[in-house]
Amino acid sequence: MGIGDLADGLTRGVESLGASVTGVFEPTVRLGVTGLSRAGKTVFITSLIANLLDQGRMPQLLPAATGAIRAAYLQPQPDDTIPRFDYETHLAALTSPEPHWPESTRAVSELRLSLRVQPPGFLAGLSGPKTVHLDIVDYPGEWLLDLALLDKSFAEWSTATLDRIEKREDAQGYLAAVSAADPTAPFDESAAQALAQSYTNYLIRARAAGYSDCTPGRFLLPGDLAGAPVLTFAPLPQPDRPTRKSLWREMERRYEAYKSQVVKPFFRDHFARIDRQVVLVDALGAIHSGPDAVEDMRRAMTEILSSFRPGRNGFLTQLLLGRRVEKILFAATKADHLHHSQHPRLTAIMDAMLRDARDRADFAGAGTAAMSIAAIRATVEETITHEGAPLDCVRGTLLKTGKQAALYPGELPEDPNALLSSARAGADRWLDQDYDIMSFAPAPLKLKPGDGPPHIRLDKAAQFLIGDKL
Ligand code: GDP
Repeated sequence: MGIGDLADGLTRGVESLGASVTGVFEPTVRLGVTGLSRAGKTVFITSLIANLLDQGRMPQLLPAATGAIRAAYLQPQPDDTIPRFDYETHLAALTSPEPHWPESTRAVSELRLSLRVQPPGFLAGLSGPKTVHLDIVDYPGEWLLDLALLDKSFAEWSTATLDRIEKREDAQGYLAAVSAADPTAPFDESAAQALAQSYTNYLIRARAAGYSDCTPGRFLLPGDLAGAPVLTFAPLPQPDRPTRKSLWREMERRYEAYKSQVVKPFFRDHFARIDRQVVLVDALGAIHSGPDAVEDMRRAMTEILSSFRPGRNGFLTQLLLGRRVEKILFAATKADHLHHSQHPRLTAIMDAMLRDARDRADFAGAGTAAMSIAAIRATVEETITHEGAPLDCVRGTLLKTGKQAALYPGELPEDPNALLSSARAGADRWLDQDYDIMSFAPAPLKLKPGDGPPHIRLDKAAQFLIGDKL
C-alpha cells in the first residue's frame, strides 16, 4: 500500500465519522445523479427538486401521497468546495414564457433539499417530525468510466483502446496520426498536444455517434483542466524498448498522473460518499443510432455497475471501507418521445440490459431497478390514421424550427432480446426497421399552485430512490 493510498483511506475514515455524528440528529441521504452527456441529468435534477418542493404530481412517492412530507425547502449545501447546482436558473429556463432546455452538466455540482417529515398515525406522531436532508450530487458519467483505468496500465489501456477503435470510421484520422508518430522518438510537447487533440476530436465524434466507451472522460468534459499536461496524452502502440525520455514514456507518465491526480480524487471526494444512485441513460437515442450504439450502451452499463461493486477494484474497496451504495436505478430518460403504449417495451429493454449488466459485472449487493421516465414531459399523445390504420404518436414543438410535429419513432419489439441480440451480434443496422427521433422544445407550462412540472414516472423513480428514507 502506498502513502497516497493510505492517505485516501484516512480521509475517508474521518469523513464517515463526521457523517455518522451528524446522522444521529438529522439523517442525510446523498443521492448521486449520473449518466453520459445529454442523458438528461440537469433536467432530471431540476424537475425532481421542483416536484419535491411542490408534490402535487408525485402520487407514487408514498410520503408525498400520505401527507408525511410537511415541508420541503432548499438549504445551503454542506460542501463548501463543490459548486451549487444552479436550480433556479435551470428552472427559469424551463418555465419561462419561451421555455428552453437548461445548460447541461459539465462538472460536479450539488444541492441540499431538506424535507420535514412526520409519518401519519398515532405512534409516529409521538416522536414528532424529523428533518431529512437530501444532498443531490450531479456528476458526469464519463468520469465514472475512468474507474476502469485504475486497473489498467498505459500499455493495457492503449492496446484495448486501439483494438476497439480500429474499424471505426471516426477514428481513422487519429489512427493515421498514430501510425505517423514514433513512440520511441524523444518527447516533444507540440507532437504530444497534436496527438491528444486528434484523439479528443475522435472522442467527441464517437460521443456524437452514440458511443459510450469514451475514456479518458475528462477529455470530453475537462472542467478547469483543459490543456493541462494530465490531459495531454493519447493511446499509443507499445514499442519494444521505449527509452526514458521517449514520447511513449512521457505519455505513460501523464496517464499515471491522470489516474492519481484526477481520477482518484474524484472517487474519493464525490463517489465514495453516495448512498443512492440514479444512472440516466438515453436509451432511445442509442436505439436510434443503431445496434453498435446499443451494444456500447450495454457495455457502459456493465462498467458503471461494476464501479458500484466493492471488491472489484482495490483502490475503491479501500476507499469505501465496507460501505456501499444501497440502491441503484437505471432510468431510460426522455420517454415522452414514445406513446405510453410502448413504455412497457422500453422498460423491458432497460430491464434486460440491467439483468445482463448484473450478470456480467457479477454484481450482488445494492437493490437495483430499471425504469423508463421523462423528467419533463414535452409532448402530448395523439393517435393519427396512417394508411388507413391507427398510429400511436406523440406531438411536440420541434426544437429547430419551432413548428409542431407528430413523431412515430417506430415500434419497439415486444421481446427486448430481438433488439439486444442483434446488437450483440454486431449487426450494422436493425433488421426490421429504423427508429426515428426528434428533438422537442419544452412545452410552455401553466402550473397550478402545489404542482411541479409534468413528468412521466418521476414519482416512481423518487419512491425507489428515497421513499424509504422519508
Ligand atoms: P445532461 O448533459 O445529462 O445534463 O443532459 P440535460 O439534462 O442537459 O439534457 C440534455 C437534453 O436532453 C436536453 O437539452 C433536452 O433536449 C433533452 N431532454 C432531457 N430530459 C428530457 C425529457 O425528460 N424530455 C425530453 N423530451 N427531452 C429531454
